[in-house]
Amino acid sequence: MNCPNCSTFDEVAMEAVSCADTKIDRCPICGGILLDKGEFQRLRTMGNFYIEALDVEVEIKHNAPGRYCPKWNRSMEREVIKGVEIDVCKQCKYIWLDRGELFALQKQFQ
Ligand SMILES: [Zn+2]
Ligand SMILES: [Zn+2]
Repeated sequence: MNCPNCSTFDEVAMEAVSCADTKIDRCPICGGILLDKGEFQRLRTMGNFYIEALDVEVEIKHNAPGRYCPKWNRSMEREVIKGVEIDVCKQCKYIWLDRGELFALQKQFQ
């Protein structure tokens, strides 16, 4: 699966990273995270330790004007949750979080 953000510029494959007993898709270039709805709910219940472990230092900061769902290659829609702007695919319920957005959301939910 390609990164919804970086792939606007160049094809970048997401990497599966372990988070507790689940695997999360993270982009090795921009550090963004792609979640399905169930993963999103589960991450919210996990502690900061796991959320921080998902964060990765990145050198390149791509910021595409739009995000594209890697499944359908369709535009994702902007949605604001608790003041944090995220990207969602209404079709397959994927949620894209730019680096740092997961942590920002986590703080809002606490
Ligand atoms: Zn990326
Ligand atoms: Zn989709």
